[in-house]
Amino acid sequence: MTGSPIRLGISRCLLGDEVRFDGGHKQDHFLTDVLGRYVEWIPVCPEVEAGLGTPREAMRLVGNPRGPRLVTIKSKHDHTPAMEAMIEERLDSFSKLDLSGFIFKRGSPSCGVERVRVYTAQGMPSHSGAGIFAKAFTEQFPLIPVEEEGRLSDAPLRENFIERVFCYRRFQDLVQNGFTRQALIRFHTIHKYLLLAHSQQHYETMGQLVAQAERYRPQDLTVKYGELLMKTLAMKATVRKHVNVLHHILGYFKKRLTAQEKVELLGVIDDYHRGLTPLIVPLTLMKHYVHVFDVSYIRDQVYLNPHPKELMLRNHV
Ligand code: SF4
Repeated sequence: MTGSPIRLGISRCLLGDEVRFDGGHKQDHFLTDVLGRYVEWIPVCPEVEAGLGTPREAMRLVGNPRGPRLVTIKSKHDHTPAMEAMIEERLDSFSKLDLSGFIFKRGSPSCGVERVRVYTAQGMPSHSGAGIFAKAFTEQFPLIPVEEEGRLSDAPLRENFIERVFCYRRFQDLVQNGFTRQALIRFHTIHKYLLLAHSQQHYETMGQLVAQAERYRPQDLTVKYGELLMKTLAMKATVRKHVNVLHHILGYFKKRLTAQEKVELLGVIDDYHRGLTPLIVPLTLMKHYVHVFDVSYIRDQVYLNPHPKELMLRNHV
């Protein structure tokens, strides 16, 4: 999987801390009770850290949608300067924390990643955008996977986010352990089927980059490959693409199956294709044969184990 700890930033109210404007919290039990066993949280409440206290007057984004202000609803106090000072200090500290992802509270004028209402000075909703802190974070760390807790209740989005987090951690390890052309080839090789489940075209573009690795300075190559990697993984892995990958993998041991085993395995893949079973079903059978026939090239593929099986993410996609 990955040897390094997975460190995720998180809007603090999602952990159950009573830091919201009304003195409450928004604990998310999947995060605290399930995902929390596999990651180290770095909790942040931008509003509390900006010195705004709890409870506090509710705020919203007001003004120019490209650079809205954070203003209290009733008293119209502008807290933007306090928030900007907090952001500058915190973003600096994040660069040293080696984060592999961030989970934000949706809808918040500080933490929401998207679709946060922006109001006119007259109090009318005019646009939607990102919370001030979340916007600054994503601009400063464009490769780090981010998600809102609300979207994580959707099984495919949840699986995708956690897959990106673990992949990004492996990429961080690749960079931090001394980025060589050989190490990059190995990384690209073991991610082949995972990438193909998202985009064949992007996988091929990344392959061209790896093949031309000597043309680039290591630092430039790291940036280019990292950008392509995270962009590819953010693309939707559809059932059709997974079926395609499963057939590719089957090709490595198909000839060693009996006629009956082959029919059975194809039937299981077809059931998944038709929505009768989740991905975990054909994958478990594939893994069984990869183990039995000792297909080392496939055994090493991240696609088979992209995140801890205990999270059961592929039982629902
Ligand atoms: S949404 Fe963000 S700013 Fe609001 S309480 Fe939660 S962590 Fe604090």
